[in-house]
Amino acid sequence: MARVLFINGGSEGHVNPTIGVVQELISRGEEVVYFTIEAFRERIEKTGATVRTFDGQKFVKAFISGGRSYLLERINGLLRTADIVIPSVLEQIEGEHFDYIIHDSMFGCGYILAQILKLPAINSCTSFAQTKASFDKMVEQLSKNIPPEIVKPINDEFQSLTVMVKEKYDVGIHSPYEVFCNPAPLTIVYTTSEFQPFEEAFDQTYKFVGPSISSRLTQENFDLTEIKGKSPIYISLGTVFNQAIDFYKLCFKAFGNTDHTVVMSIGEKAQITDLGEIPKNFIVKNYVPQTEVLKYTKLFITHGGMNSTHEGLYYGVPLIVIPQSADQPIIAGQVTNIGAGIKLHMQSLTANQLREAVDHVLNHPSFHTAVANIRESFQKSGGYYQAVDDIFEFKSQYDI
Ligand code: UDP
Repeated sequence: MARVLFINGGSEGHVNPTIGVVQELISRGEEVVYFTIEAFRERIEKTGATVRTFDGQKFVKAFISGGRSYLLERINGLLRTADIVIPSVLEQIEGEHFDYIIHDSMFGCGYILAQILKLPAINSCTSFAQTKASFDKMVEQLSKNIPPEIVKPINDEFQSLTVMVKEKYDVGIHSPYEVFCNPAPLTIVYTTSEFQPFEEAFDQTYKFVGPSISSRLTQENFDLTEIKGKSPIYISLGTVFNQAIDFYKLCFKAFGNTDHTVVMSIGEKAQITDLGEIPKNFIVKNYVPQTEVLKYTKLFITHGGMNSTHEGLYYGVPLIVIPQSADQPIIAGQVTNIGAGIKLHMQSLTANQLREAVDHVLNHPSFHTAVANIRESFQKSGGYYQAVDDIFEFKSQYDI
């Protein structure tokens, strides 16, 4: 048995794929101490892990204070979270021994913590993997149209934050890549090599284990018998970029009072009462047990979050992807590349377009064939089970 320090942030997309991994680690005898925010305590404790938390509000405040307009600002935001996460983690594990660390690919400053604690490190990558070269190229492309008077202070801040990290924690940060992607000697990527763009660029330290989908073990207030046998359309923009009242109303306009049954998850930030009258064929909730709902769904209208996309395809559901932000345009591109769905643009979207897109996907067998293929490769890939095999292989290399 080894003791594992697990570091994550506090968002569904980064936590959900780790649940099966932690459960599987524990079932194979590991002891896991899992750091996240309070909101995920129950979900993680049910895996058998010991949960410890850092202040979620201070974490979000620090992250956002870096700025939100440009990727470079988000990188600074991530560095600003160091002072929230690191002292809290160090204080709570003082005097304890850990054999290795598994950390999120983005949140929780895992790269820095691994250096401070001098632990063998594993990166839990919940989006597509990036090499340093692909990441640098992306930053360069995204930065080239930003005026120098904006870029300079952002870069200056990055430099002063890295000096601060060096002074306080004695860890050198050599590039934005180390902050945004938290590289490690082993990276577990929760997708398949077929779905990963430019997968040939990754060496053996990257393991593409496939989607890690497991029972979430949470009490959810949703009556699945309402949708059994009805093959609903399911609509969700995920848990982050989901404040979109106009979009939800547009969905009413497109599908209200049609033969489709529609399940729509609008997120915790929007109020159902703000939507006005709800058509009779709609079931609208702030949150639904998505992986359960998808088992009955005939088509998923999604923002193209990595987890939602994987979950839809894993259950053989064709997608209409309407990317909102972050990595979603890239994920939408991969979905269309493999023919498993189509992409629409939020800005110019009309009810008519939505209706036509749904008819198009439902009536063209090519989408179903493509989805069936990717579903098969996802289901064969091993997911969290394969992830833990790879983690154990890593342990043996490090004599743990
Ligand atoms: N989710 C859910 N119920 C909802 C909305 C979302 O269970 O009503 C889950 C979904 O199954 C997925 C995660 O929240 O695992 C969302 O992650 P994703 O990467 O798709 O998007 P994000 O929320 O990070 O934008």
